[in-house]
Amino acid sequence: MSSVSRVSAPAPSTTRILLLLGPPGCGKGTQAESLARHFSIPAISTGEMIRGEIRAGTELGHLAAGVIHDGGLLGDDIVNRIVKSRLSQEDCAAGFMLDGYPRTVEQAHYLDALMTGSGLPQPTVIHLDVHPEHLIARICNRRDCPKCGAIYNLLTHPPLHDGACDHCRVELERREDDCETTVRNRLAAYEHSTAPLIDYYKQGNYLRVDGAAPAEQVFASILQMLN
Ligand code: AMP
Repeated sequence: MSSVSRVSAPAPSTTRILLLLGPPGCGKGTQAESLARHFSIPAISTGEMIRGEIRAGTELGHLAAGVIHDGGLLGDDIVNRIVKSRLSQEDCAAGFMLDGYPRTVEQAHYLDALMTGSGLPQPTVIHLDVHPEHLIARICNRRDCPKCGAIYNLLTHPPLHDGACDHCRVELERREDDCETTVRNRLAAYEHSTAPLIDYYKQGNYLRVDGAAPAEQVFASILQMLN
């Protein structure tokens, strides 16, 4: 296993490596935004990187489009490669926040080895626990700003002006994979492949947060636990 090439000396004790774990619609993206801003670390969303490849029309994007549309998971090798390359960038030197990775036990093993090989601490895992019955309604009402990436929810966190981003005023969009059929497949993929990571990480730095609470309250609980 090769390490993240940037790192040559042991990481300073202040290096903050956070990992958000939870089902689709649990609020990972919203909390990732807030935590990244609070700790001045980059939020790394594998889903967002993959959507970027699709928008750019790359070979990987073509391969990924069908998988995302069906609500399945991309192969571990592909995603591990994308993450390794992203973590080697300079802005990750003081820490980073992972949103949507790892999603399988194999990816978690890969990340463990990557951290160990790079002299980085194992991540602090924040599990946003939300009962499945809330998730479909949440996801179907989610809207994103295509310009700044801000995330809204028509039920719980609507924009100030109908359908437009509070910051950029551009029209909000609904992710193509936020439709009900795809969401059901994404939830099934989560139960099958990602939920086992809860037991995997429980032995380490693991924090469970009630993700059903309003976003500001969830954020406050996370900060309190981290301190
Ligand atoms: P997200 O934005 O995290 O909801 O991810 C959107 C989609 O990207 C997922 O439904 C998967 O198809 C794909 N994806 C994102 N992260 C991963 C990952 N770690 N492993 C496999 N597929 C992923």
